[in-house]
Amino acid sequence: MGIYADYAATTPVKSEVIDAMMDIYQNHFGNPSSIHTQGRDARRFLDDSRRAIAKILNVRPAEIIFTSGATESNNTVIKGIAYANQTKGKHLITTKIEHHSVLHVFEHLEQQGFEVTYLDVDTSGIVDLEQLRGALREDTILVSIMLVNNEVGTVQPIYDIQSIVDSAPHAYFHTDAVQAAGHLELNIEDLQVDALSLSAHKFGGPKGTGLLYIKQGTTIAYQQLGGEQETKRRAGTENIPQIVGLTTALTLADKQRDAHNIHIAQLKEQLLVGLQNRAIPFEVNGSMMDTTNHIVNLYFPFIDVETLLTLLDLEGIYVSSGSACTAGSTIPSHVLSAMYGEDERVTHSIRISLHETLTEQDMNQIIVALQKIYLKFKEEEHA
Ligand code: PMP
Repeated sequence: MGIYADYAATTPVKSEVIDAMMDIYQNHFGNPSSIHTQGRDARRFLDDSRRAIAKILNVRPAEIIFTSGATESNNTVIKGIAYANQTKGKHLITTKIEHHSVLHVFEHLEQQGFEVTYLDVDTSGIVDLEQLRGALREDTILVSIMLVNNEVGTVQPIYDIQSIVDSAPHAYFHTDAVQAAGHLELNIEDLQVDALSLSAHKFGGPKGTGLLYIKQGTTIAYQQLGGEQETKRRAGTENIPQIVGLTTALTLADKQRDAHNIHIAQLKEQLLVGLQNRAIPFEVNGSMMDTTNHIVNLYFPFIDVETLLTLLDLEGIYVSSGSACTAGSTIPSHVLSAMYGEDERVTHSIRISLHETLTEQDMNQIIVALQKIYLKFKEEEHA
């Protein structure tokens, strides 16, 4: 079977989630916009889901829009805020380490005449707060900064960022919180963001489903036109089975978060200590303090990333070079490049991402496989 340790790319759908979805497919297939009994039955699941999500995120149900995933959420909010607020200004701010579903939208907006500032990060992957302060202007209309980075796991100082953004008169603040769900508490009243994106398949829900939180009163132009679903903010028949799946998954992830975090921290510790004890040369990319622990990005100076991934795959260990969207290609990680510049680390690092279902034995197998690969390289070096 092998060991899958690429849970930042995606997670398996939990059995409780499958059961909840199957119930909708089999027993509640109505269109929630239909006014007959079957439609109203489906509508009940949609409304209940929105209420349950709103409770977890500590927001109003009307502030939640269900989407086809975080890529759509990010596109909707960034383009939507930019287009609707351009009379106030055309300046936008983001960071160099965002997911491509954010970065490519900003690049697109630059071609449309918007000006974008891409903030630097330090070697931990933390955004430069002074640079943010200096970049904010009267005509800044949006700041988008991710909560947890998907390649290195670094958690941004969201409260400091929020209070800095607050000083700009016209700037909305969006965060891509995809990698935070199930790992950090997502109480939006505390986070004080105007918009937040989530994706179900990162926390035991189905792929192709996500949500966008948009604070009431935010000026935004919605792109998906058609029917009146999602109170005219996202046309298209709602995918009730998937939405119920997302809700079940987020409810479970929220309940089990503390227990899972303890287990995942132990797995990470075991991995790092195990590598050290076996004298395998490595360094951690990112922060040891401000991190969610489930993403462990490691630099192995003795081997390039493609060779390492291939050899690990042969050993039955499935990890990645960083973002799944660039995996399979030789494009160096834009996240590691932003953190370390033109350093060998960029081409000699892998991402191991952890999950509550991994065991001590699994971690041991990963350590043993890495040791085997290292010893083989050492042998060849001296041959
Ligand atoms: N943002 C981040 C930080 C991600 O890790 C991902 C998934 N790789 C996305 C956005 C895109 O999410 P989705 O797969 O739901 O489109």
